[in-house]
Amino acid sequence: MLLLMLDSPSQSDLAFLHGLIGEPGPDPDGVPERYLTEPRDRDHGRAATVLRPRNTGEVARIVAACAERGIGVIPWSGGTGLVGGQVSAEGPLKIVLSLERMTRIRSISPDDDAIVAEAGVVLSDLQAAAASVGRLFPLAMASQGSCCIGGNLATNAGGVQVLRYGNARDLCLGVEAVLADGSIHHGLRLLRKDNTGYDLRHLLIGSEGTLGIITAAVLKLFPCPAEVVTAMLAVPSPQAALHLLQAMRARLDGITAFELMAARGPEFLRGVYPDIADPLEGTPDWRVLVEVGGPLGSELQVRAEAALEAAFDAGLATDGVLASSEAQRARMWWMRETIPEANRKVGAISSHDVSVPLSRIAAFIEAGARAVAALDPHLRINCFGHIGDGNLHYNVFPPEGRSKHDYEAIAAAVKAAIHDCVAEEGGSVSAEHGIGRAKTADLMRYGDPAKLATMRAIKTALDPVGILNPGAVLDTGG
Ligand SMILES: Cc1cc2nc3c(=O)[nH]c(=O)nc-3n(C[C@H](O)[C@H](O)[C@H](O)COP(=O)(O)OP(=O)(O)OC[C@H]3O[C@@H](n4cnc5c(N)ncnc54)[C@H](O)[C@@H]3O)c2cc1C
Repeated sequence: MLLLMLDSPSQSDLAFLHGLIGEPGPDPDGVPERYLTEPRDRDHGRAATVLRPRNTGEVARIVAACAERGIGVIPWSGGTGLVGGQVSAEGPLKIVLSLERMTRIRSISPDDDAIVAEAGVVLSDLQAAAASVGRLFPLAMASQGSCCIGGNLATNAGGVQVLRYGNARDLCLGVEAVLADGSIHHGLRLLRKDNTGYDLRHLLIGSEGTLGIITAAVLKLFPCPAEVVTAMLAVPSPQAALHLLQAMRARLDGITAFELMAARGPEFLRGVYPDIADPLEGTPDWRVLVEVGGPLGSELQVRAEAALEAAFDAGLATDGVLASSEAQRARMWWMRETIPEANRKVGAISSHDVSVPLSRIAAFIEAGARAVAALDPHLRINCFGHIGDGNLHYNVFPPEGRSKHDYEAIAAAVKAAIHDCVAEEGGSVSAEHGIGRAKTADLMRYGDPAKLATMRAIKTALDPVGILNPGAVLDTGG
């Protein structure tokens, strides 16, 4: 059998591909920057062109043509991925296949508690569409104004409400996807139960565009909470934060978010936005943002106040504020959600999206601090994240007044030190952002060998030419 090798597309290939979507050819000004950069400005990609199909048939025709010609395809939805899966700098030039024109909500069925959306629907638009029929689509994250449902599923995104509703995988009933030969998997079923063999949906979710291009999905909807209580609380330690979560769960069953922030987060925020109104007095070492939702008549406010009083009595919280208005709630969330932006302005030497078992969080945080100090005691750590899911963003910064560029020489050692601590505690080196191109080596280093061999076998079976997002997830050299 003659194996096709990937190659850069020729001018006639590009004219043909653009012709499939009724365009004369590539943009004469070249590929716009937004398809070649990623939010942290770490990777700068190259691409032969950008194709923006309008429907699944066009996606299928493009992929079939790329498979015949051995042209690599990078699926792109919102470009907010944090591990470089949507930008490629290595190997032959590829095409960027953007789903941004596929923005139709195909149907909403309140009776099924389900919505069918195309891959290019922006997450916040999907939330709004659900709200328009009195339902909640609970996937939520700071990038929700830009990221799209195709990218959310491709990365199995998490966010701030996983504690109650699960991650993107848990919210999806079915997908429509174009496979590597251009065939279409028609999996848009409204079924809650369907045990008919291998589940392609779960194979495609989290595969970061390496096994198929998700073109549409059926997503679960939920009742909108009629009452919401939000609080920011100072806690003595991360361990106390976890005990606080358990204590609150014993009294309140609808905790949707439980976010940890080290003092470094508000400190960085104040550096960027000196006028921020911090709801808490002083500068507590650790704080949590808690949100609880409940149905009409659940008297959440009263029950939440009682739960917090008990927490103060037990020493699990030392200070706290319950949001008394929507504006105050928004301010609390703004603090949490703006930390990534402040981090970017300060400039991290190395950023880590990790998870460990809940019981090992405190041990991991201490071990991480020791490991970083052993490399350089002046480095600063900003640790924050979805502590209720065991998911921390553990980012390391240069000392004040220094630049991350001064520390490039030790960036790899910082990352290895943190990831070794994660492995020691039985954790994962990618909790919610995925592998992309930034973490392929980490996957090889920490991944289970049998799992890696099975992943390679699946990739070869489903994409024998290797056109789908070459070099992402499994480092195939593309
Ligand atoms: C400020 C900020 C906050 C964030 N917070 C969170 C958070 O709380 N939780 C979290 O999980 N992530 C978070 N992220 C990361 C990011 O927003 C998510 O990973 C998001 O799901 C990516 O969606 P996207 O549409 O931007 O995908 P893209 O960046 O376009 O693509 C991401 C990956 O998916 C592939 N892909 C894209 N579309 C498709 C498709 N239709 N079919 C197949 N493959 C595809 C791409 O090739 C790439 O590998 C955050 C990012 C930023 C900038």
